[in-house]
Amino acid sequence: MFLRELKQPVAVLHGAGKSVIQKLARMGILTVADLLGRFPRDYDDRTRAIPLSAFATGEKVHTEATVLAHEWFGYGRMRTLKLVVADDTARAVLVCFNRAFLEKQMPVGSRVLVTGKFQFRYGVIQSSAFEVEPLEGGQEPKSGMVPVYALTEGLAQGTVRRLVKTALEVSGSRVEDELPPSLLSSRGLLHKAEALWHIHFPASVEEYRAARESLAYEELFFFQLAVARRALYRRQIEIPRGISTGLLERRLRERLPFELTPDQDRSCAEIVQDMSGPHPMARLLQGDVGSGKTLVALVACLHAVESGGQAAILAPTELLARQHAATTASLLEPLGLRLAFLSGTTDDASRREVLAALASGSLDIVLGTHALFSEDVVYKNLRLAVVDEQHRFGVLQRVAMGRKGDMPDLLMMTATPIPRTLALTVFGDLAVSTIRTMPPGRKPIVTHLATTKNAPKVYDFVRKLLAEGKQAYFVYPLIEESEKADLKDAQSMAQELSSKVFAGYRVGLIHSRLKEVDKRSVMDDFVKGRSSVLVATTVVEVGVDVPNAAVMVVEHAERFGLAALHQLRGRVGRGSAQSYCFLVYAEQPTEDAKARLKAMLSTSDGFVLAEEDLRIRGPGEIAGTAQAGALKLAIADPIGDIGILEKARADAFGIAAADPGLLGSENTVLREVLKRAPPFGESSTGSGA
Ligand code: ADP
Ligand code: MG
Repeated sequence: MFLRELKQPVAVLHGAGKSVIQKLARMGILTVADLLGRFPRDYDDRTRAIPLSAFATGEKVHTEATVLAHEWFGYGRMRTLKLVVADDTARAVLVCFNRAFLEKQMPVGSRVLVTGKFQFRYGVIQSSAFEVEPLEGGQEPKSGMVPVYALTEGLAQGTVRRLVKTALEVSGSRVEDELPPSLLSSRGLLHKAEALWHIHFPASVEEYRAARESLAYEELFFFQLAVARRALYRRQIEIPRGISTGLLERRLRERLPFELTPDQDRSCAEIVQDMSGPHPMARLLQGDVGSGKTLVALVACLHAVESGGQAAILAPTELLARQHAATTASLLEPLGLRLAFLSGTTDDASRREVLAALASGSLDIVLGTHALFSEDVVYKNLRLAVVDEQHRFGVLQRVAMGRKGDMPDLLMMTATPIPRTLALTVFGDLAVSTIRTMPPGRKPIVTHLATTKNAPKVYDFVRKLLAEGKQAYFVYPLIEESEKADLKDAQSMAQELSSKVFAGYRVGLIHSRLKEVDKRSVMDDFVKGRSSVLVATTVVEVGVDVPNAAVMVVEHAERFGLAALHQLRGRVGRGSAQSYCFLVYAEQPTEDAKARLKAMLSTSDGFVLAEEDLRIRGPGEIAGTAQAGALKLAIADPIGDIGILEKARADAFGIAAADPGLLGSENTVLREVLKRAPPFGESSTGSGA
């Protein structure tokens, strides 16, 4: 059996109670394979205790302590729990911002394991950045490396540890290798069964490292094998190309009130060159928010249409898709192009009409959401698929797109700049065009930081802009009030802003739980200037273009990642007026949050911010973000593991080139894995995008 074939439900494991099963299910852990495939996020090295009294050395305290008391301070949404704890050496206070739930989990008198950095403040040793975990009576090993899993609230580490151990005892030895024996020996890798044991329960750091390396190699190998086979497949295909003289492009350029920037020009040229070559294009266009990627995409579409084909522009959200449709219609319909829009909310009659027109070839360009690539959509001759905000789409969707027509050219666009190594791994076979400079004439956005206490001053400033006829965004981390976190939320604040703060102005509210029609009408009101303030969650992060919006206020900015903050700020500064961004943050942001806010203040260059992000968060996390929805790696880190990646890539490309069908006997294992238990949920055809 391969690991992913252990499909028995976790319920078969001795000791898996009903409520535990439910909680695991909420984390997406349904089967034994899911459980064993969820590797520890960390280990407690119980061999190295650092008592509270040693807090001043700057090292993290790591100690067993007793909970002495619960204390509370602050009022209302600011009400905060303090856990008073003591170990054999000292007393300390754990300040539990937004972690009131610890009250129940850590009753007075219980034994806990505390990890974190402490400081001496207000006469006590205290910490607000700590981890605390109940120690269950004697069952916990007191020494060695103990796995720590990423768990939802209310699931105890001890319970999961025991279940994982049971699963390993029952099924662990049956797990087969997924790599050919020759690779295992040439790369010095562990057998899969052994690697699984050692990743969950390493006896030493060395054992952990060897297991991690083997598993990371395997994961990256299969990823690169898929990339290699796609790339090969693409290069084998030769498509007859119609001829495009660039007439439509010239006519578009004549109609524009501005010239394309040099970077836009270069990107257009690179794309046109790819599109006139014999093999299907696979290109990534990266450029900061507002850098003008859409126009470049439209130029590509014009070439596709002029050479006798159709083009599709795919956006991740309905909101963004509609915005694209409006822009595209105003620019291309005057050139005589026939456009249509298609999304999940298109009614049946219109849908039938659009499908018929696509199939007969009476439409040139279709814009929409992933509905563009559902099974029943047939194109007469799809030449080009443009995918906006590519990182939000999955590998599977790329494959689905590849299946439409004879391998259309692919143009992916992203405003999240991707470090070179990551581009290579995540997008593997894509060529990259980059727009670095912004269109001329943009006034830099003025960014200010403010604490929650000073929010009223920010509101006053915004009120003045509203009086001048400008519009404003307010963004919050939550949709509605939550008991778990003392945070302002979009719903309550929309109330507050419309009834008190900005009484007399119309305030719209938009978030992901609204129906599409409602989102559209709220958005429409804002675009047309019928409302002055738009209160939102990160729904507005991508794509919304309202030039009259001159101020972006992000409350609880400490809660947002750097990429999200940058995207949000990019929503303003699109018109000729001076624009502002206020990042309002709550007391006591973490060090990382402070670093992010500072970075936002110091630069507006998305590429610089992406690098800063990498520095603050470390490679693992940024890789995770860039891949969210694209490809979930369970253990490998494409940046940190670049050495392993290069080996895996060389091996995978070597094998794919020598034996594209994986028919040789030395590749039987690979063929079986792809057939019986393909990684990343991908089909084993190796074709497609
Ligand atoms: P993004 O790269 O974020 O998708 P857009 O394509 O939405 O950026 O462009 C942002 C704005 O800049 C649009 O209003 C667009 O018309 C404008 N724009 C694009 N290229 C230029 C240019 N070369 N000169 C002036 N304005 C431009
Ligand atoms: Mg865009």
